[in-house]
Amino acid sequence: MKGQDSNLDFYNAHYDIIGQWLVRPGDKVVLGDRDNRSCRFCGKTTPEVTFKKVAHAIPELLGNKSIESAYECDTCNKGFGQGIENDLGNWSKAMRTLVRIRGKSGVPTLKKGGDKPGWRIEYDQSRLNITAYENDPIFEVDEENKTVTFKLRRDSYTPVAVLKAFMKIGITLLPDSEIPNFSGLMRWVKEPDHSKAYINKCPVIYAFQPGPMPNDLITALILRRKSTVTGYPYAFLVLGYGNEVFQVVLPSEKNDNQMNGKSVSIPPFPVPGHPDQGRYGQPRTTVLDWMDSEVRKGEIMTMQMGFDDRFPVEFPESE
Ligand SMILES: [Zn+2]
Repeated sequence: MKGQDSNLDFYNAHYDIIGQWLVRPGDKVVLGDRDNRSCRFCGKTTPEVTFKKVAHAIPELLGNKSIESAYECDTCNKGFGQGIENDLGNWSKAMRTLVRIRGKSGVPTLKKGGDKPGWRIEYDQSRLNITAYENDPIFEVDEENKTVTFKLRRDSYTPVAVLKAFMKIGITLLPDSEIPNFSGLMRWVKEPDHSKAYINKCPVIYAFQPGPMPNDLITALILRRKSTVTGYPYAFLVLGYGNEVFQVVLPSEKNDNQMNGKSVSIPPFPVPGHPDQGRYGQPRTTVLDWMDSEVRKGEIMTMQMGFDDRFPVEFPESE
């Protein structure tokens, strides 16, 4: 594809890849030194803090069973898990169910809240089972265009907390030598009061690849601006799982002051899409704005699937 090639040219000219991972369950990567523990997030060492729990560099709920870090203490791990990673989980859950991303306890089940029985989407071994009711539809079937459109309510989440969860993944994947460049970002990511601002805007480039994609593959990259380049953000995290890829700026107070008040346009980092794009189409790219610090309740997530890429999804009679 031409567009992908010129995007790659842009990144080759302006950025270096300083970290790159492509993992599936069974692969094992441990970042940091397991014999010499010091927490990257609070600076504490044993015995002041413990390192008994496995710290996933990318949350396990996104399907990461492989990349662990030795530099996240149990206290910080717990804090992130109950805080921003919970928001990330709530935001991403409906899509994770539809594309069958396995977290700690398998593919999450989606169901209508409340006491009365309602719709339910559940993965059992090999396929998604969907129970829906005519008076409470969660999907629409378009026989003519051979598409199914899901409309699913997300659990409550705070947008800026989801952004912080991605930034936290970025900070975790950075090499040690880069950490002093991100101390402001680190403080902000750890700040539980989400109304406290650190940056004015931080658009996230989001790509969705239609069609059946591997549900157990995690792709992660850290991009750093070449030393000869100015006028572009210093660092990015690119993270892909399932059918989605996120490209997030990692603001560095030391290296991004040249960016103050300026806006630049950059092409999305070219990620491999479906090998058969003639059939499934190219990745759809959009920009997400997660700067809002107000809790979002009842947001509807829409996802369209073609019958052809319906893979293991089956539709029972509606009751
Ligand atoms: Zn810590």
